[in-house]
Amino acid sequence: MARFVSLGLQDAMARNYSADRKSVFIGRPNKRSFKRMLQGALLGVGAPMGWLVISAATGFSQHADSTYHYALMAYMLLGTMLSFGLFGWYAGRKEDHLAQLSVMDHLTGTYNTRFFHRALEREFANYTRYSLPMSLVLLDLDHFKLINDTYGHQSGDVVLSEVAEIICSTVRQGDTVARVGGEEFAVIMPGTATDNALAVSERIREAIKSRPAHSLDGTTFTVRASLGVAGTDRICPRSATEFFARVDRALYNAKEQGRDRSVVAEETGPLAGSYSAISSEGSTKS
Ligand code: GH3
Ligand code: MG
Ligand code: MG
Repeated sequence: MARFVSLGLQDAMARNYSADRKSVFIGRPNKRSFKRMLQGALLGVGAPMGWLVISAATGFSQHADSTYHYALMAYMLLGTMLSFGLFGWYAGRKEDHLAQLSVMDHLTGTYNTRFFHRALEREFANYTRYSLPMSLVLLDLDHFKLINDTYGHQSGDVVLSEVAEIICSTVRQGDTVARVGGEEFAVIMPGTATDNALAVSERIREAIKSRPAHSLDGTTFTVRASLGVAGTDRICPRSATEFFARVDRALYNAKEQGRDRSVVAEETGPLAGSYSAISSEGSTKS
């Protein structure tokens, strides 16, 4: 059952422009801070080592007070390792943050198109290697231009953010949600057969339709979406690009058949695997 998050408009706007919206972002940032801290601490050993070499080469260590010499060594060892380590930790955190921003869509907090296509290539490679089923869902909001024109671009932005939340709260952990166009979202579902992907697609569509949207002036309106669904247990794409083209065509068919529905990409006849099989695709609408 999809979880619905009921947000007031102001909350939604605040969330939209807040940099800290990790609830929607389904991702695990790389933990570079620990790695950079260790690297920094290792670099910190350089200063006392350098001093050892210099004092040995100049013969200073033989004449110097040994207590003073070892105290200086310990101070340098701890001091530089600590300060370089701390600096490394800080730099690692910043690096993690920038890495996360580079794959995120700033408006919705989902992944961006670039990350999506990389993830699709990776999951498709896993599918071909291990023959595990995988599915793709592509969603496009219906008449979104009209929503923008009627209620304003800012209200449209809030709708996009809320739709992202609905999708993220409906799919499983491990699925990848991305905004792949202005009002288009895609979900990669590894290990999911077409029927299950269709069920998720329908839950998302129903959830979007049943959650009232609000314009800035308080008017309530309904948002609808069309979805394409494609699964490797029904079609046999030869590449990630072809897989995406098939789900895109299923979405196109959903629009053609009247919108507000999910359409599944089907394989039929001797042309299985080619785009000419697409005309047989069936739609689901409650
Ligand atoms: P259809 O049902 O055929 O999909 O019609 P549509 O109006 O949704 O499609 P169309 O491609 O004509 O319009 C898409 C609109 O999405 C136009 C564009 O202004 C809007 N859009 C794209 N990106 C954003 C965005 O970031 N914020 C807002 N508010 N609107 C956006
Ligand atoms: Mg579109
Ligand atoms: Mg649209």
